Amino acid sequence: MVKTIGEAARETPVAIETQVLVVGGGSAGVAAAVAAAREGADVVLAERYGQLGGLATGGLIILLLTLDDGAGHQVVGGLCGELVDRLRRRGAAVAPPREDWNSPDPARVAHYQRWGLVWGKGPHRVRYSVAYDAEEAKFALAQMVTDAKVRLLLHSWACDPLTDGRRLRGVAFQGKSGRFAILADVVVDTTGDGDLYAFAGCPFASEKVFPWLWFRMGGVADVEAAIAAKGWFFHTPGEGRVLFPWGSTGRIERQIDATSPEDLTYAELECRRMVMAEVDQLRRELPGFERAHLCDIATQLGITESRRLVGEYVLARDDADKDFADAIAVTGNWTKYATTYAIPYRSLLPRGIDNLLAAGRCISVDHRVHHSTKEIPPCMATGEAAGLAAAIAAASRGAVKDVPLDELRAKLRSRGAIIDRP
Ligand SMILES: Cc1cc2nc3c(=O)[nH]c(=O)nc-3n(C[C@H](O)[C@H](O)[C@H](O)COP(=O)(O)OP(=O)(O)OC[C@H]3O[C@@H](n4cnc5c(N)ncnc54)[C@H](O)[C@@H]3O)c2cc1C
Repeated sequence: MVKTIGEAARETPVAIETQVLVVGGGSAGVAAAVAAAREGADVVLAERYGQLGGLATGGLIILLLTLDDGAGHQVVGGLCGELVDRLRRRGAAVAPPREDWNSPDPARVAHYQRWGLVWGKGPHRVRYSVAYDAEEAKFALAQMVTDAKVRLLLHSWACDPLTDGRRLRGVAFQGKSGRFAILADVVVDTTGDGDLYAFAGCPFASEKVFPWLWFRMGGVADVEAAIAAKGWFFHTPGEGRVLFPWGSTGRIERQIDATSPEDLTYAELECRRMVMAEVDQLRRELPGFERAHLCDIATQLGITESRRLVGEYVLARDDADKDFADAIAVTGNWTKYATTYAIPYRSLLPRGIDNLLAAGRCISVDHRVHHSTKEIPPCMATGEAAGLAAAIAAASRGAVKDVPLDELRAKLRSRGAIIDRP
């Protein structure tokens, strides 16, 4: 029995009223907000931290894996493609040119493996994946949001959905100035952990995980030689700089629930301690690292999985290579070649609330499919679809499940999104 304490009933000031409220400014949230605003909706994007990108910047997960199907066809475009273009224009992204995609040439494959752009079991081919810089990505995402005239609210932690039967009237937030509410016609949950649908009482599943804590080091004398000697790190944009995809599996005592402050505190302290020990060891033992320095450790733990929505459709392992009439996005697949999942619109729809959508890593899929849908490119693709659907629903004042699929799919296509498998 959990001990409880009563709180006084209170009136919460309404800070903003809007058509579409997107909660969580990770890769999915930015895509959702930009897509909704470009459709003409009044949009607020609220984020608990002081930057955009979520794991794709603060988590130092700075690899887009993959925008192709493993057989040479691009399967993610739209706003994810636009982000790549923006990063490329500033020299902040490294990706194989189109003519290299699907090349089995061992030298090219090995080159891109050293950039972290080819993973999984062989036989390998060059993939359309992208390595980029985290600070540049924060800047590019902020520009996308401001260019689209999204009203951005940082340092705002969503704590309670304000439900009224099957509708959300809005969301209560906590900021340094106190508690405030944002009212909205449609809400998109892009918190990564599904905070809103969970607190609104919608069904979900959850997973415990071993956390990761990626970090970057600079001043490495000869990156090629160091990778050849040690292996488990990659080139990353920046002279003499490398990216360590450090994980705690086999090193930390237990898996954690990424929605528990106690578990997160334990993991933050343990992982950081172990990363610092590894940095010291690298400097002591690895040729080329004698004068290397720590550039940064991810400010967010690498959480692969927490809550998964159990929505109108749960996309499952057996749905690989299946087509859906309501498909709104396609995954690349970085582990299995030429296996992709079409993502149905129904996987973004929580049960029980009529004006709420989910996007990004917390959508309605099983544990296996989550490996594919959690990647940044499909997170942006589901975000884009959710944002556009939210804008359409807000304009018609209808339920999100009644958004006309023909209209949604046609509009996504016209924006360069790829919504059906090749
Ligand atoms: C170790 C690891 C390795 C990975 N490797 C790759 C890879 O190589 N390539 C790849 O493409 N993908 C990879 N992924 C997956 C990918 O990084 C994430 O799944 C993806 O970035 C998730 O995006 P998202 O926007 O759904 O969620 P998140 O990035 O988690 O964003 C959620 C956002 O919501 C905010 N938020 C959360 N709760 C609240 C709240 N209550 N109120 C307000 N704001 C809130 C957060 O601060 C955050 O900004 C990896 C993931 C991990 C952990």
